[in-house]
Amino acid sequence: MKIDEDRCVRCRQCMLYCPVGAIKEDEDTVYIDQDLCVECGVCLRSGACRVGALYQPQLGWPRILRAQFSDPLVPHPSTGIMGRGTSGMKTNDVTGRFREGEVGFAVEMGRPGVSTSFEEVEKVTIALAGKVEFEPLNPVTSLIEPETGRLRDPDVRRERVLSAIIEFKTSEDRGLEILRLLKEVSEGLETVFSLCVISRCRDFEIPFRERMVAAGFQPRINGKTNVGLGRPLA
Ligand code: SF4
Ligand code: SF4
Repeated sequence: MKIDEDRCVRCRQCMLYCPVGAIKEDEDTVYIDQDLCVECGVCLRSGACRVGALYQPQLGWPRILRAQFSDPLVPHPSTGIMGRGTSGMKTNDVTGRFREGEVGFAVEMGRPGVSTSFEEVEKVTIALAGKVEFEPLNPVTSLIEPETGRLRDPDVRRERVLSAIIEFKTSEDRGLEILRLLKEVSEGLETVFSLCVISRCRDFEIPFRERMVAAGFQPRINGKTNVGLGRPLA
C-alpha cells in the first residue's frame, strides 16, 4: 500500500486501522513503512481516507505473497480459496484427511499486531522436515521443498505477512516428539504462534489428549460437528 503525498492532508485517520503499525509519520509526511506493511488492504477498505490518498500499486513476486497471506479477499493460487488457510482440518468428517492413528497439527504463525516473516516460518518448516507429512494443499507447503523445509525461493524470506499456517500430520506415536520439537524451536522465534492439534475420537475419548496431558501439555478442547453435508469417510 502507498500514500500519494500530493493528496495526503496528514489527518492520520488511516493510522488507526493498520493492524501492524506500518503507517507512520515524521515532521512532514505520513508514510507507509514498506517493510512492515503486509498488504492486508485494511486501511484502504476502511474508507478512512477522505481525499483518496491511499492507493494499492500492482504487486509483483514475491511481494504479492503479502496480500495472498494477509488480505482475506485475495485467493491463494495453491488452494483457490481466500486467505492463507485450508478448509480440510475443520471438515475432517468428510475429507478424511486425518485417519485413525494419525494426529494433525496447524501452526499459525503471526497475529494482527505482531505479523511474521517467512524467515521465521522457514525456521519451523526446516525443524519439521523429514519428521512429518506436510499438507500438500496448503499455501506454505507450496513455497517449500517438503524434504528439507527450505523455501524454494530465498527471496521469499524477507516478505512479511499477518499470519501463515503450517499444516502437517504424523502418527500418534510420534505426536509428542513433534510437540516437544515445536516447543524447542519456538524459543528461537521472533514472532508468536498458536497451535491446533487434531486427532480422532475413539469410544467417546480423545486418546492423544490423554497422552498430551500426561506429558505436561494443557490442550483446550475444541470441537466441530458437520451435520449432513457430506458422506463420512472411514
Ligand atoms: S495495507 Fe495493511 S499493513 Fe499495509 S499500511 Fe494498510 S493496513 Fe497497514
Ligand atoms: S487518511 Fe489519507 S489523508 Fe489522512 S493521513 Fe492517511 S493517507 Fe493521509
